[in-house]
Order: sequence, then structure tokens, then C-alpha cells
Amino acid sequence: MAQRVYTSRLLGQDPCLVLHGGGNTSVKACHTTVFGEELDVLVVKGSGSDLADIDTSGFATLRLEHVARLATLDHLTDTEMARQLDLAAVVPGGPAPSVEAILHAVLPHRFVDHTHADAVVTLTNTPAGEALVKEVFGHRVAVVPYVMPGFQLARLCAQQVAAGAVDGPGVVGLVLLNHGIFTWGATARESYERMIELVNLAADHLERVRVRARAATALPVPSPAGGHTGRAAMRAAVAEAAGAPVVISWHTDAPVMAFLGRPDLADVSQRGPATPDHVIRTKRVPMMGRDVGAYTSAYRAYFEGHRHRSTAELQPLDPAPRVVLDPELGMGCVGRSPADAAIAEDIYRHTMQVIADATELGGYQPVSPADLFDVEYWDLEQAKLRGRGAPLPHTGEVALVTGAASGIGRACAAALMAEGAAVVGLDLSPAVMTTFAGRPPAHHWLGIHADVTGTASVAGALDEAVARFGGLDILVLNAGIFPASSPIADLDPDSWRQVMAVNLDANARLLKEAHPLLRLSPGGGRVVVIGSKNVPAPGPGAAAYSASKAALTQLARVAALEWGPDRIHVNVVHPNAVFDTGVWTEEVLSSRAASYGLSVEEYRRANLLGTEVTSADVARMCVAMCGPAFARTTGAQVPVDGGNLRVV
Ligand code: ZN
Repeated sequence: MAQRVYTSRLLGQDPCLVLHGGGNTSVKACHTTVFGEELDVLVVKGSGSDLADIDTSGFATLRLEHVARLATLDHLTDTEMARQLDLAAVVPGGPAPSVEAILHAVLPHRFVDHTHADAVVTLTNTPAGEALVKEVFGHRVAVVPYVMPGFQLARLCAQQVAAGAVDGPGVVGLVLLNHGIFTWGATARESYERMIELVNLAADHLERVRVRARAATALPVPSPAGGHTGRAAMRAAVAEAAGAPVVISWHTDAPVMAFLGRPDLADVSQRGPATPDHVIRTKRVPMMGRDVGAYTSAYRAYFEGHRHRSTAELQPLDPAPRVVLDPELGMGCVGRSPADAAIAEDIYRHTMQVIADATELGGYQPVSPADLFDVEYWDLEQAKLRGRGAPLPHTGEVALVTGAASGIGRACAAALMAEGAAVVGLDLSPAVMTTFAGRPPAHHWLGIHADVTGTASVAGALDEAVARFGGLDILVLNAGIFPASSPIADLDPDSWRQVMAVNLDANARLLKEAHPLLRLSPGGGRVVVIGSKNVPAPGPGAAAYSASKAALTQLARVAALEWGPDRIHVNVVHPNAVFDTGVWTEEVLSSRAASYGLSVEEYRRANLLGTEVTSADVARMCVAMCGPAFARTTGAQVPVDGGNLRVV
């Protein structure tokens, strides 16, 4: 098993072989029962595991004879197949076995590997696919035409096995046209090395074709144009089609733009995915251009035109695209979460190369829409997407938090991510870039080192936010400065201006710049302004700070008045005495406590409830203001201060 796990991971970690849960591996072994009897078993990858990081718990152990014998049946429904595979389990509580378990069982070899190698699907997604396979691999592989994965494919392969096709001299693999490749061996290493050798033969063939192609044509490369509002409008339309907020990551790098510049783009992009199981991640075809209505109508027609193929009462999946190809906006990759969008991106990047190469080989020709429909609406494929539980409340939403590297801003960012939102954090400190690096949830954090008082840096940050996540739903205005205490009689004009520039002017500009994005938020935009207790109850010596926060609060109230028709909520939280922030060192804390004649402990809890207020408490209110509790509230000011005598 150690060897089985090891080479499974080697295969899984090469994206040119399998992507995101694709492919499967097995080993035939001996299992000793509790009675001391020996039993032949098939140990096969479980459905839902990813080869890249699989371990022994990701494999199911099944009675080999029972599983192999299923391939001799004339018919087997999906439900019955799943039941029979369940019944064949030798180790209880294991994962549901791969849909290809029966095929692994009928191949009479110890170790068996299956991938969707780019190079192999490229050869076979062409009109002359079978001939190309013969040309490149000779007699080293058997070939089967495309049939639906699962029972039908296993049955066809069992017939080939019975006819002796896979045990001829030197036959080390099986190519499934339009789908992928199997190899086998007496050891894990032998099977793995055969996989690599065959895939390399195919890749070498493609490289020769590519060299010819590069010499023959120079593709026009369009320049990415179209501002972030165009992209946010696209996200709003896609989210409406999806019936839920989505993120869209946009890409305009050279390989993407070269693909978008293909003169035959409208044709080749609309033919289908490189291997059928990609359909659940990318849909059958990407959306060309910006007409979401036309795409969803076409999807509904595809569903209605093929639903009769299933005996089950099918429910249509959401008709929204997962990949958008627009010569000006770039490639947009859609997902309910940033991780889903990243999967669609990975898959489509490989698909672009497969399409380009297959076109050079005589034309890109994946399986028919009808065959893809069978896979897309195959319950066993959809099961891969289930079991993830209910989505978090802010799944698919995008928040921008200023001053996010520390204190209240960082706590707000963490709380929003914990509720499923993708967060763009701005901060004057470069530490913001790595504030949440390496921490789950993956792909949810974008830290931007930016000065909120700079016009160009704010516009650049919004561009970057939309490029990464597609739009903006939530804006948390938190960045602010608290200058040294100074009576009005001694006011330093530069310090006054600096406080106003950060606490007021920068927020006014950010509100103005963010408005076109917030009004395109699928769930309605939400702005949370971090005010201060000093607004209702200013402090002596804090003129600049108190005045700036009061003006900011007034700005928020006007925004609430103006933006109601745009479904944008604007609410203010007034924190007080939040001591777990960078401003409050132990030294400052003890000197402030002493000036009130209190111990540090008493000073921390000097409020009506006698409780300590933390950044996390403020963040909790911030998240609440973005959720259903505040769905009917705008222009509100809520203190988070433990109760203040001067405020109540
Ligand atoms: Zn496969």
C-alpha cells in the first residue's frame, strides 16, 4: 500500500496527467479475514479523493471476484452498481469506491493506473484519433472507443480482456478515446513508469507538431481592455443566472490572450471539454463574450434537448457559465468560492493547450453534447460536488477591508473569511500581503500594500480586487490614525491635516470609487464604517480624531441617504477601549490607567457591563451588519463599548 499511495501521489501531483480529483489507481492484494482465510481484494481509489494527496484511508477495499463479475451482467443501473460495490466492501466504513472500480477489477494486472493525460486526450480528441494512437504507441496499447464511464466502459473493457486484447506481448496500456489512458504493471513502479513513458511518447509527438505550428502562424494578441465596472457587471449577471453570489477571477496573461486571439475561437471553444469529467467544473462549453442571457438560454435548451436520456427525473443545474472568454475582459473563471474558480481556471488552461494542439493534428473533436450530458447529469459525478455541507453565509461574496494587517481590520477580515467571504485587505504595512498566508481557507485572501490616501493606489487596489474576485459586495472602512493627545490651543496644523486625510478624505474617495462596484453586488452592497465612541462622546485632547470620526459618520449617513435606491446599506459601528490593537502597548495602557487612578485590569473593564472589548467583538458586529440581521437597516450607528455612561 505504501507503494500504491506513493505513485498515486506522483501521478496526482502532475497537472498534465490529472486535475482536481480526476484519475484513479488500484492494486490487487490479499486480505486475511477474521477467520484466517485469505481473500483476493481490489484496493481502489475512493470517489471524492484527490490523487495528489491521497493516503491509505482514501482507498476502498473490495472483494475482487464480486466486483469483476459485475462486468458480466447485461445491465446494471447506477444505483445498483453503487449498492453492489458497497456490498463488496471488505473493510467497513471506507470511502465509496471510484466509478471505475469495475474496470480496475477486470484488468488482470496487479497495479493499475488511470489518468486523463493532456497529451493522450489531445491525440484522441481528433478525427484521426485512433490512427494517431496506433502511430504513436504501436502495439503497446489496446484501444477502446468512447463509451460512458462506469459500468458501460467496464463491460466493454471486460469484453476486450476476454478477447485477449490486453494480454498480447508488450501490451502495457489501454487508451480510451476522448477520455484518457490506463497502464498496468506487476509493481507500482512498473505501472507508473509505463504511464510516464507512454505519455512522453504522445507529448513528443505533439512537440513536433507544435514546432511546425509555431513556424507557420503568428497569432494576433489582443490587449486586455475594459475597466473593472465591466467585469463587475458581468459578475452580477452571472450571479443572477447562478442564483447565488459567485466570484470570478480574470486572466489576461500571454497564453490566455493568444488563445482569445485565435481566429477560430468562436468555433473551437464551443466543442466541449478535453475529458468528460471536466464538465462538472467547466460546464460543456465556455461563454463567448458577455451575453449571459444567450448562454443560459442555450444551456436550458441543451438540458431540455437531452433530459429524455435519463430514466431519472432530472433537476436542471444552474445555467450559469463557469468559464467566460471575452477578447477585451480576458478569461473569467467562475466559482461559488475562490477555490472553485481556481479549479475551473486550471482545467481551462489545460483545455486551451489541448484545443490548440488537437487543431494542429487535424481538428479538435471531443465527445458529443449528448455523451457529455450523460456525464454532467450522472448522479455519480454530481455526488463529487455534494457532501460539502451548506454554504457559509457569505460564500461567493467579496469584501474589502482597509487597515487589514492588524487590530480591528484584521479581525474583521478574519471574521468575514470565516463566514465564507473572499477578502481584499489594504494596509500601509507590507505585512498585509502575508497576513493570512498559508492559512485556510485557501484562495480567500488578497493582501494589497497600499496607501488609502493615494488616488492611484486606491484605484489600482480596486482593479486588482476585481481582477482577482470579480466585484465588491462589502466595504469595511477601518483604516485610521489616532494622533498624540493635543489641546486645541496647541494644535499642529500638519497633524490635523494628516488625521483628516486618513480618517476622512481617504474614506470619502474610497466610497466614491467603490460605489459603481457596490451597486452591482448580487446581494446588495454593504458598507461598514468603523467610527468611534468619540463621535457621541468626544474626549478632551482628541480634537482632530473626534472631529474626523464625526465627519466620517456624517459622510456615512449621507451615503445611506443617497445609496438606498442602489440597495447599498451603510452602517456605523462605534467601538471604544479596544485594547488588543497595535496602538495600545502595555506601556500606554498602564499610563492611561494610572491617569484615571485605576489598575490596568479596572481600566480595561471601565464600562457599564464591566466587560473587556476586543477586536473580535467589533468584528462580530461588523459581520452582523453585513448579514440578515441588518437586512432592513441602513444609516444606523451601533456602539460596541460595553456600555458607556456618556453614550447611553
Ligand atoms: Zn477517467
